[in-house]
Amino acid sequence: MRDRFYMPKHSLGQDAIYLCGNSLGLMPKSAKEYIGQELEDWKNYGVEGHFNAKNPWMPYHEMLTDQMAEIVGALPAEIVVMNSLTVNLHLMMVSFYRPTKERYKILIDYSPFPSDRYAVSSQINFHGFDPETGLIELKPDDGEIVSLDNIQDVLTAHGHEIALVLIGGVNYYTGQAYDIKEITKMGHAAGCVVGFDLAHAAGNVKLSLHEDGPDFAAWCSYKYLNSGPGGLSGCFVHERHHKDGDLPRFAGWWGHDKKTRFLMGDQFKPIPSVEGWQLSNPPIFQMAVIKSSLDIFAEAGMDRLRAKSKKLTAYLESLVMAEASDQFRIITPSDPDQRGCQLSIQMCRPDKNLFEYISQKGVISDWREPDVIRVAPVPLYNSFEDVWHFSRILHEGLS
Ligand SMILES: *Cc1c(COP(=O)(O)O)cnc(C)c1O
Repeated sequence: MRDRFYMPKHSLGQDAIYLCGNSLGLMPKSAKEYIGQELEDWKNYGVEGHFNAKNPWMPYHEMLTDQMAEIVGALPAEIVVMNSLTVNLHLMMVSFYRPTKERYKILIDYSPFPSDRYAVSSQINFHGFDPETGLIELKPDDGEIVSLDNIQDVLTAHGHEIALVLIGGVNYYTGQAYDIKEITKMGHAAGCVVGFDLAHAAGNVKLSLHEDGPDFAAWCSYKYLNSGPGGLSGCFVHERHHKDGDLPRFAGWWGHDKKTRFLMGDQFKPIPSVEGWQLSNPPIFQMAVIKSSLDIFAEAGMDRLRAKSKKLTAYLESLVMAEASDQFRIITPSDPDQRGCQLSIQMCRPDKNLFEYISQKGVISDWREPDVIRVAPVPLYNSFEDVWHFSRILHEGLS
């Protein structure tokens, strides 16, 4: 599948060693053609493209649903592609964060992505509570890993005050993959609503959202799902909530019953699926890019991708540690079931010059202050050779 993507070049004119698909996935070569089709149809049909385009714009988002549902293990009615990730987290909290005086806290991941912390804090504020007391952040056991026992302890101590548990499926910093099923069970048993931010999980690890049963989830599509900078977000609401008329929500016309949407009536009647949370008619060009990538995913299949991914990451781990176990600590769990493709490599003696060296030699990866290099060999387009070259350059840099 590597040939289906454009590999960036580094300054020496050769292909870069791109290990940054956890930040921005590569461009599918077919993306241009998929967007081109929509530009062509706009040119030829104007407004009538909503019905007459090769892929009519009116139901365009529905074309993404089955493939996205397959990637995250959900029923099609539980999946919609809309908005951006942080926007969807807010929309989900409008419906699913319903604090009371006794139960108003939100439990979040250890070292969460900043946007999640800002979103959650501002929701707590919005409801008239104080984020200082309302926000509980998980703490790692020892090292950087958060065990299920640890999460259970927090829920046992504070569960009665927690309205919402909102954790990352895979932690962006440590690369730890959480057990969504167990956390959901534990959260529900404590009387909490449970949601997941799957930004680093979707397209990276195997997910079974419907079976595992969280109340909602959202993820961006520009990381492992290759939809391009600022690409749209996927959103999951479990089926059991679809017909709950008591849930508050922010509404817009695209969430209204499709049969009567264009009667332009006064009364909002939500679509009885996650589509009922849509606000606006969607950006077709962005959706065209997602489609180009989802078609590649459908061909590859998550099972095969995951099988390759486990080998690729294990190979990376063994090469990095083979010659330099006294120089690095890998803070990502060593258990393949507790991580996706990313490894977070911590330098025992922090020195950003090493990162600058490998960047000069054509490695595209990511540095997190003060001492972590994150690398993500992506099974769709990274090879064992990429991993080998990376490791060789890293060790050269050390010496
Ligand atoms: C990448 C990422 C985001 C980015 O949010 P946008 O709204 O897409 O800009 C948010 N949360 C997490 C956990 C992420 O990894």
